[in-house]
Amino acid sequence: MLSAFTPSDVAFAMAAIAQTIPALLWLICAVVVREARRASAHWCAFSALGALSFGCFVAAQQAPLAHITEPIRAAGNITAVLSMMALHGGIRLFIGNTVPYTIYAVLLAAVLGGSWIGLDPHAASIRVGVVCAVQAILSAGMVVDLYRFAGATMKLRLPWLLPLPALISGLIYVERCLRAVLTVGAANTQIAVASGFNVASAFAYVAVTLSFHAMLLSLVLMRLIADLRRISRHDSLTGLLNRRALEEELLLQVQRSLRGRVPFCVLMLDADHFKRINDRLGHGVGDMALKHLASLMRTQMRSIDTLGRIGGEEFVVILPGLQEDAAVQAAERLRALISNTPLPSATEPVAMSISVGVAQWDGHPEETTRLLMRADAALYEAKQGGRDRVALASAAVSSG
Ligand code: GH3
Ligand code: MG
Ligand code: MG
Repeated sequence: MLSAFTPSDVAFAMAAIAQTIPALLWLICAVVVREARRASAHWCAFSALGALSFGCFVAAQQAPLAHITEPIRAAGNITAVLSMMALHGGIRLFIGNTVPYTIYAVLLAAVLGGSWIGLDPHAASIRVGVVCAVQAILSAGMVVDLYRFAGATMKLRLPWLLPLPALISGLIYVERCLRAVLTVGAANTQIAVASGFNVASAFAYVAVTLSFHAMLLSLVLMRLIADLRRISRHDSLTGLLNRRALEEELLLQVQRSLRGRVPFCVLMLDADHFKRINDRLGHGVGDMALKHLASLMRTQMRSIDTLGRIGGEEFVVILPGLQEDAAVQAAERLRALISNTPLPSATEPVAMSISVGVAQWDGHPEETTRLLMRADAALYEAKQGGRDRVALASAAVSSG
């Protein structure tokens, strides 16, 4: 039987095998990786239906009875479309979008209609034309979704790289659609003939199929890396940057300020008598108080400012472009806001206050750790001065 395989059959059979193994991979992911269960299940369906579809094309060539060839090809086309919908739907789920089932239903209806008409071998080009047009539409949808995700969400430098396999597949389907429509009646002979073109197309399918899986793995890896980076840079309680990330931001700010010759200041904040809140109302309320402080700080700061929690109840704010006078005013506004906005709690509003040390960068490339030490010394002064106040790196400037 194998001797009856034409080179096209061999190439399509290879495409079927190239889809079977990833089907197992995505099945394992669907079972093991809880966060991407539904997307992985869709990609498993994409691979399995893809394998089935390529298998149908081989089976159609080998069919002993001529009248079942066309229905088998139609089944191959329909499973190919379902496979692409599963791929598209899985991507939409993975990037947090809804799956457009209504659009899928309309496209599927068109494919079923085209396949019905195309059961007549003379009208096969209608079936191929409709199927390829639908595949091109689904590919275009993927290109748009993946480009947006890579650019807007992941902020990649080359966002078009991620959707490249979908773009190539889309172009192939547009070309096939046009060829089917423009050379009416030739669709069957084209695919049935053991031509070099068909072998090349089948190899192209293998390459596109594998690159789809590379694209999906990149998508998963990209989000994994982004999640790890977010977790390693942020404080889990308040969502602010942690000490390490804040120190990195400080180094970047020094470089920016050196390049642009602009000043910047840092604020070092510490909640006053925070231990009393924990002792009196419990650690849970203490945690809520820290979140409350972080959200008040967020409302007060500009989008270019950087906020971090560097210790238990200690925070740092980087204020780009500000001289010390303006930074002291910003710190004073924040201090007043916190003093006047007690934490609402089940029993009683919890009054809070902060002390703030302000230090201006002295213009030296190396001044990062020392800058924080100067702000810390000013904070110590504010504490010594009676708390609920702001102190500049050298002298006390205000009191609440
Ligand atoms: P001061 O005005 O001198 O700063 O007094 P303080 O009580 O704020 O300072 P101290 O350093 O003595 O106490 C800080 C407290 O912050 C001690 C610790 O239990 C509490 N703390 C640190 N991290 C957390 C946290 O994540 N959650 C809660 N609830 N409390 C924390
Ligand atoms: Mg404190
Ligand atoms: Mg402290």
